[in-house]
Amino acid sequence: MKITCACGAIIVDQSDDLPHKAHIIGDKDYLDFLGRIDAAIEDSSADKARIAMQVRRGEPSRLGWECVACGRLYLNDASNNLVAYLPENRQANRIFDRPRNSRKD
Ligand SMILES: [Zn+2]
Repeated sequence: MKITCACGAIIVDQSDDLPHKAHIIGDKDYLDFLGRIDAAIEDSSADKARIAMQVRRGEPSRLGWECVACGRLYLNDASNNLVAYLPENRQANRIFDRPRNSRKD
């Protein structure tokens, strides 16, 4: 997938683990999703593959990309259309690129 940014740059999404891409979960869906994970952990049935697929199918995120040239964000709306947001500082802020060592285990 490629997105042509309004600034002319091309946002490329053709692999995994991209620093300029995000899976965004709205607050209304977040706690529900955590509840699904908790229920899967507590499920005593032996069919772990089925339980894992139920959790994955219920994952409520939408996708987002940041243009590394201008910082413009492109987010999927509820109809899977791209909506653009331009930061006031007009620069790439690496907003989705959290350093791995900052994650809490
Ligand atoms: Zn751009």
